Amino acid sequence: MSDLARRDELAANLDAVRRRIEAAATAVGRDPDEVTLVAVTKFFPASDVRLLAELGVTDVGENRHQEAQDKAAACADLDLRWHFIGGLQSNKAAAVASYADVVESVDRRKLVAPLNRGAHERSHEIEVLLQVSLDPPGREGRAGADAEDLDDLARAVEEAGMLRLRGLMAVAPLGEDPSAAYDRLSRIRADFVAARPSADLLSAGMSADLEAAVKAGATHVRLGTAVLGPRPRN
Ligand SMILES: *Cc1c(COP(=O)(O)O)cnc(C)c1O
Repeated sequence: MSDLARRDELAANLDAVRRRIEAAATAVGRDPDEVTLVAVTKFFPASDVRLLAELGVTDVGENRHQEAQDKAAACADLDLRWHFIGGLQSNKAAAVASYADVVESVDRRKLVAPLNRGAHERSHEIEVLLQVSLDPPGREGRAGADAEDLDDLARAVEEAGMLRLRGLMAVAPLGEDPSAAYDRLSRIRADFVAARPSADLLSAGMSADLEAAVKAGATHVRLGTAVLGPRPRN
């Protein structure tokens, strides 16, 4: 596909998701400007990131370190905020902090020291969201901290020095009505924010369920397929 045709396709997709966000926010009496679109560009080339930036996208999300690092380097001339949204290994965390502006997937204490070290090396504060699990306990491959461990994890992040705790992130479990999962998230978040009013960001909602997430108070929706189309490989 030519760059121009791809640009038109991305522009049309962005229009459609911006309309969805606006309708979802308006329907529950929220200001659509409270909801930031994070375009999830995993599996898509840096050329798409460039087109999205031209089309007004300010925030991009990636879930794998090597791919994220390469794309962030290829797009270093653009004024973008890079969100790391994937499962994070502690031996990669310092490297992730060398390009990510926001790390959304902090779900255990072990990640805090290396992220903080990476932020120090870069002399750049990193924003952190704690990923909370909405899965039933014991589910295979479960990512995210248990709700009851969030306070402890939040304290570790706040004490680190170069990390700024901004809020929570979650993924709706497969096979459950996302509205029910996001209702639980909304209650977890209310408790969390009551203790830390400045950590009031909530990253929730993907292409299929952004409406339910906006209803539950999401400030960031992470949209891949709805913006970029079906992923080429996965
Ligand atoms: C891939 C991914 C998304 C985007 O998913 P879509 O369904 O393509 O919108 C959102 N969040 C996370 C954590 C992801 O890995």
